[in-house]
Amino acid sequence: MITVPKAAELIDSVTLKVSVKEVPISQAVGMVLRESLRSDRDLPPFDRVMMDGIAIRFEQWKKGQRSFPVEGLQKAGASKQSLKDNQHCLEVMTGSILPGNTDTVIRYEDIKIEQQNGEEVAVIRKGPKEKRQNIHAKGTNRAKGDLVVEEGTVLSPAEIGVAATFGKSMLKVSDPPRVAVISTGNELVEIDQQPLPHQIRRSNAYTLAAALKETGVEADLFHLNDDRDEISEKLDHILDQYNLLIMSGGVSKGKLDYIPELLEKKGIEKLFHKVRQRPGKPFWFGRSEQAVVFALPGNPVSSFSCYYRYVEPWVKKQLGMREVQRPFARLTEEFSFSKDLTYFLQVRIHMSEDGTMEATPVKGKGSSDLANLCRGDGLLELPEERDDFGVEESYPLYLYRGF
Ligand code: AMP
Ligand code: MG
Repeated sequence: MITVPKAAELIDSVTLKVSVKEVPISQAVGMVLRESLRSDRDLPPFDRVMMDGIAIRFEQWKKGQRSFPVEGLQKAGASKQSLKDNQHCLEVMTGSILPGNTDTVIRYEDIKIEQQNGEEVAVIRKGPKEKRQNIHAKGTNRAKGDLVVEEGTVLSPAEIGVAATFGKSMLKVSDPPRVAVISTGNELVEIDQQPLPHQIRRSNAYTLAAALKETGVEADLFHLNDDRDEISEKLDHILDQYNLLIMSGGVSKGKLDYIPELLEKKGIEKLFHKVRQRPGKPFWFGRSEQAVVFALPGNPVSSFSCYYRYVEPWVKKQLGMREVQRPFARLTEEFSFSKDLTYFLQVRIHMSEDGTMEATPVKGKGSSDLANLCRGDGLLELPEERDDFGVEESYPLYLYRGF
């Protein structure tokens, strides 16, 4: 039996090749960017007027000129005009290019437009503080060629806007593999069936597929009864078509727990079987040249914990996501667990006033108690070296719910 850190290390040593596809920008939010985004031009691309008002030459104001005949209007989206007479002004709009031969913008609030001898004249009421006021200079946000978004970023609306600005109508993103999620067990029936007294519905398959979906990975569902021939036959078929298998059940000591044995027969090399943890001790993990197999224990809370502790971080890494630091949360109550196993404590999270995450145990009735998962938000990893965990102590948190 290996420790939790050792199991995580072995899993981390295995990689899955994930290809890259191009998608229209409108579909890319939430996907993992597989190229970097550099600005295709200076930002802003021209000296941009920041206020509706007039553009003048600052030097004229300094010389004492207070009235500026209006020569015309520089509209946003119109090509650059030039001020012909140094003593005149041009009206300008937010977002327009700064007219040639001007260097300062004064907002309408600080001037008055008057009619003088049939001519429009801007009279300055509040003068400019400095030259180039209200002008957003070309290239001051980012220069052409600057790296703005790194490869491996999960695309949020912020990056979509940046990509759009750079003219990227198509984006290179990870093309997640389709995953086979496989439940096992004679006691399980389809979820739209009425189970007999000795049967239950195969919920794990749906939990795992849903968890994968949240990282952008689609799954196809399979079921294997506890029958050597059936497992063997169906595994051949599945291994032909999928290179990532997430299984649940059939990995313990039961008479019909054939999964480890049959996986090895199919050429899946075992990297470990059994981890010093609760829940989830019977966890089996292996790989071949073509496939990676997570064979999780069948108890719903066990497969759930194993998924969030091991599978999710690994899948995210394979998708090319940049690693983010794991959050820690602070216990609000004492907790004890004396076995020499890492304990995954179900917790409800709330934010303290200083913005740290606080974890309150919502301990369930064991590893079959999947209903209890609905009361919590995440799992706190309590190391095996300790028995008593005190208030205010912080431990790594595996969240399964966003805030
Ligand atoms: P096993 O690991 O196959 O010994 O299963 C352990 C426990 O988990 C048993 O009580 C199973 O009935 C239950 N179990 C196994 N697979 C599932 C599943 N897909 N959905 C819900 N419960 C399951
Ligand atoms: Mg079983």
